[in-house]
Amino acid sequence: RFITLEGGEGVGKSTQIRALAAALRERGLTVVETREPGGSRGAEAIRELLLHSEGDAWSPRAEALLFAAARSDHVSRVITPALEAGQWVLCDRFIDSTRAYQGGGSGLSDEDIMTLHRIGSEALLPDRTLLLRLDVDVAEARRSARTLERADRFEDRQAAFHTKVVAAFDRIAEAEPQRIRRIDADGQPDEVTGRLLAALADLL
Ligand code: C5P
Repeated sequence: RFITLEGGEGVGKSTQIRALAAALRERGLTVVETREPGGSRGAEAIRELLLHSEGDAWSPRAEALLFAAARSDHVSRVITPALEAGQWVLCDRFIDSTRAYQGGGSGLSDEDIMTLHRIGSEALLPDRTLLLRLDVDVAEARRSARTLERADRFEDRQAAFHTKVVAAFDRIAEAEPQRIRRIDADGQPDEVTGRLLAALADLL
C-alpha cells in the first residue's frame, strides 16, 4: 500500500509519520518511511537545491519542474520497487503538496502540474492520503517556534501564502473524498495517531 501524509506547515507531520510507521510495524507490516522532496539520492540533491538556494532563485514553473524531477527519481528508484515487493510505503508529502504549494500557493494550474506528474511518475497516486488539518493560527505558532531550528528558504513565506496552501489542500480533499481523508491534528500526539490509523482501517 502507498500512503502519503500531507498538510501545511507546523501540523506535526514528521512526528506523526514516525508514530504511524511504528504502529503499522507493530501489526507485522514491512514499512518504508520516506519523504519529499527527497527520498532517493538524486532527489535529495534536488532537495538541497530547492531548500537552500536564495529566496526567489526559482521561478514557480522551474520550481514545479524540479519537484517533478525529484519525484520521478524517488518513485522509480524507491517507491515503486518497495510497492512491487509488497511493502507499505509511507511518504511525507507527495503530489498533493505540489498541487497545494506550487498550484494553490504559486498559481500554477492543476492541469499543468498533473501533466508533469504523468510525464515524471506515470501519474502514480497514493492508495490513501492523510491530510493533517490544524487551525492556521495554531500551525503558525508551532511554525514560528521551530523556525530557528530548521530554517530553509520555504520557511520565509508569508502567512497569506500558507492560507492559500491550506485552502488548496481542502479543495483537493473535497474533490477526492475516497482517497484523501482529512484528519484533525489538534490534541495529544497519540490521539492524532489513533485518528490516522482509523482512517486506514479499511486497508489493513
Ligand atoms: O515537509 P516539510 O515541511 O519538511 O517540507 C519542506 C519544505 O518544502 C516546506 O517548507 C514546504 O513548504 C516546502 N514544499 C513546497 N512545495 C512542495 C513540497 C514542499 O514548497 N511541493
